[in-house]
Amino acid sequence: MGVATKILPPQGKDRALLARIEKEAGTSINLCYQCGKCSAGCPVGFAMDYTPRQVIRLLQLNLIDEALNAESIWICASCDTCSARCPRGVDIASLMDALRREALSQGKIKDKKVAEFNKAFLNGVRNFGRTFEAGLLLQHNLKTMQPFKDAGLGLPMMSRGKIRLLPVKIKGREQVKKIFARAEKMRGEEE
Ligand code: SF4
Ligand code: SF4
Repeated sequence: MGVATKILPPQGKDRALLARIEKEAGTSINLCYQCGKCSAGCPVGFAMDYTPRQVIRLLQLNLIDEALNAESIWICASCDTCSARCPRGVDIASLMDALRREALSQGKIKDKKVAEFNKAFLNGVRNFGRTFEAGLLLQHNLKTMQPFKDAGLGLPMMSRGKIRLLPVKIKGREQVKKIFARAEKMRGEEE
């Protein structure tokens, strides 16, 4: 006869951390009944060390560090398929995002290039109100000491109008900056 294992709810710091991750994601891991629909529809699940369903299971089992160290959270493309398919309304895409932010703030990132890409992307949105692909590539390549990476693709993409040399700025840039400032303040207050 097998031995039953009792899973205790998270205590102390773990409990507060999990509550913060759920609050930031605007979802609850306890809603998940492990049906696996999210993993079945994930376009990059094949490359993940833990599928989306397994990431949620890790959190349900209080293995928060394991989830924060998972490569899956950086492989996730934020496509939202999992959230749209979940029969329990778990916002997995948002949870992946919250885990990324937490991993970043704890310095738990194996591939620094990913963190630099994340920063460069957010800088573009903060400054111009939308992504600026050429600036993103330039900043990322300089920060990761690979200045000519993908350089051969730049000209053909520009000539086809896929990327621009100069950024396109939206009208409400000041509001976007305020949103960033408010989000940073909120996070600071919670820590
Ligand atoms: S689809 Fe929803 S309920 Fe099913 S495993 Fe994924 S998160 Fe859990
Ligand atoms: S949001 Fe991320 S985890 Fe969800 S289906 Fe898309 S790539 Fe997979």
